[in-house]
Amino acid sequence: MIQPDSPLLHPGNAPGSQDDTPAVGQVTGKVRGKLTADAPLGKLVWFKTGGAADWLFEPADLDDLTDFLGRLEDGTPVMALGLGSNLVIRDGGVPGVVVRLGKPFATVEVRRDCVLECGGGASGILVASSARDAGIGGLEFLRGIPGTVGGFVRMNGGAYGREVADVLLDCEVVLPDGACVTVPAGDLAFSYRHSRLPDGAIVTSARMRGVPGDPAAIGVEMDRIAAAREETQPLRSKTGGSTFKNPAGGKAWELVDRAGCRGLMVGGAQVSEKHTNFLINIGTATSADIENLGEEVRRRVAETTGVTLEWEIKRVGRP
Ligand SMILES: Cc1cc2nc3c(=O)[nH]c(=O)nc-3n(C[C@H](O)[C@H](O)[C@H](O)COP(=O)(O)OP(=O)(O)OC[C@H]3O[C@@H](n4cnc5c(N)ncnc54)[C@H](O)[C@@H]3O)c2cc1C
Repeated sequence: MIQPDSPLLHPGNAPGSQDDTPAVGQVTGKVRGKLTADAPLGKLVWFKTGGAADWLFEPADLDDLTDFLGRLEDGTPVMALGLGSNLVIRDGGVPGVVVRLGKPFATVEVRRDCVLECGGGASGILVASSARDAGIGGLEFLRGIPGTVGGFVRMNGGAYGREVADVLLDCEVVLPDGACVTVPAGDLAFSYRHSRLPDGAIVTSARMRGVPGDPAAIGVEMDRIAAAREETQPLRSKTGGSTFKNPAGGKAWELVDRAGCRGLMVGGAQVSEKHTNFLINIGTATSADIENLGEEVRRRVAETTGVTLEWEIKRVGRP
């Protein structure tokens, strides 16, 4: 729990400074969500590695988030965390505040004209299933991406020839100073697994548009995607999804394979035997093992093929 005299908060704006209820009540009175100091993040990410956040904030709702950020000391680093499915949290932890949008933001509402209004914490499977139930096609690809709407927007997540840029109309974004703005998709300058969302900006909701479709046919396509994933990806492993972006005209997994890296290990991290663009934690890895393995793969691929792979996985925090 944050202390009323935390240096993270503007003097005079500390939780509970306005009333004389007990400490815990003071905190919950001002921060309605959950605020935890020195919060281990490893258990919240797919790799199951990494250090602690100085502060982890799980807001109760949008107002709670904007109020809290508005009271943060200027310059405090802010980072959003989704399901941690494309993330290495370094072993030294993350400075400042990590914001995790949980259940209060895991919502999907169907609007007119095949538009879905999705909370930033909604999972891909929830968005795709809600679209199917409403007879909205074109969002099936989100079925197979194990992240949240906020992460999809940040990463321009995509699969099977479609990506977020194809379906996003606009999104609500909370900036690190607590200001809330609506950003049209066109302003995000989407490219392959990239958006121009500023660092520290948190996507709290997004409007996506599909096309009219038959729920049964949409369901069949979603099942096909789920089965294809199961067959080709190490879904039950501690992993971070595709490690490297596919280079122009090539496939990262093929280059990794050609460089002889299938099964390569550094400490407790290994290049997946099933899909060579996935790194896995075999149970004992540190984040440094994962990152060092990725760098070794990049080195070998460059040496063998002349191609310099670019990390797709975000690596954050202190080494
Ligand atoms: C088995 C597996 C399969 C995968 N397959 C695919 C695939 O087919 N296609 C694909 O594109 N990706 C794939 N991924 C990667 C991953 O699922 C996507 O990148 C996804 O978009 C990450 O979402 P997340 O919510 O988990 O974000 P995280 O991994 O938590 O974070 C990733 C980045 O997004 C930012 N972020 C998270 N939430 C927000 C928010 N609310 N607002 C602003 N920024 C935010 C984080 O700060 C970080 O920079 C796969 C991963 C796994 C483990």
